[in-house]
Amino acid sequence: MPSVAFLGLGAIGRPMAACLAKSSGITLAVWNRTAAKAATFAAEHGARHALTPADAARGADVVITCLPISADVESLLDGDDGLLAALAAHAVLVDCTSGDPATSRRIAERLAEKGVGYLDAPVSGGVKGAESGTLTVMVGGDAAVLERVRPTLEGFAKKIVHCGDVGAGDAVKAVNQAMLAIHIWSLGEGLVALSKLGVKPEVALEVINASSGRSNASMNLFPERVLGRAFPRTFKVALLDKDIDIAAVMARELKVPSPLTQLTADLMRVAHNALGEEADHVEAVKVLEQWAGQEIA
Ligand code: NDP
Repeated sequence: MPSVAFLGLGAIGRPMAACLAKSSGITLAVWNRTAAKAATFAAEHGARHALTPADAARGADVVITCLPISADVESLLDGDDGLLAALAAHAVLVDCTSGDPATSRRIAERLAEKGVGYLDAPVSGGVKGAESGTLTVMVGGDAAVLERVRPTLEGFAKKIVHCGDVGAGDAVKAVNQAMLAIHIWSLGEGLVALSKLGVKPEVALEVINASSGRSNASMNLFPERVLGRAFPRTFKVALLDKDIDIAAVMARELKVPSPLTQLTADLMRVAHNALGEEADHVEAVKVLEQWAGQEIA
């Protein structure tokens, strides 16, 4: 029976860990920076509440992290309470953070010195996908290590894709997120203009969603959130700003021309600064609406 530790019970981490708690044959320990959240989770789901990262990792076969950025994960490695002090040589750290490839490579090297495996394994599918256990996981690292932990990841994932060496999962995720940001922004621009012209957004989306401009933004995000002015906070604009910045930096380092990614990264930074730390990513359209003096309506 694999012993699994889950660190980071945020918007997406919590439902992922809940799926694992329901998986048969797994014993689960949870740790969260704000301990009260882990205590509540443990009581609700019959998991062990670990008081430190080391406490969570001790005796674990698989340690899963899901924190905002890779540097947060790296910060959990050191010290008496850190992961390195506790991880066993056979263990694997699976980082589900949407991270950056360079930091993932550094973490992998440090763990390898102790014989511990590492996979960067960002997820997609949002909070709904996490709740239903149907996430997609994009994995970088040793394919044989992935096969060892695959049964555990299947607790919250429907699709698991090996993308390449360490960092490849982070890189694919960053590109996906850049496209998400571009789709939200470009659809927002189009619908603001059409609203000003007097075309109802629901009419425009009926056409777009039967045509070649459609995307997840047009088919799901805008109908559910923008049209009803609901804007539930499931994925922070701060995190999308972080994600597209990873894609923008990667393209610059590779000297790949990427004007659209660079520009949209700047726009996401503007939206993040204007809307604050807690705003949802789809709320970025509010910045556009304010610039235009026109709501999408
Ligand atoms: P949240 O902001 O909701 O949660 C962040 C979690 O990380 C919390 O448990 C928080 O603890 C913890 N944390 C933050 N900083 C630190 C730190 N320095 N040290 C230790 N723990 C820390 O983020 P999400 O759950 O939304 O996102 C987590 C990751 O998953 C991100 O990389 C994001 O891009 C990615 N992701 C998110 C999706 C979503 O729909 N939300 C979808 C796909 C990927 P505390 O409770 O103490 O604040």
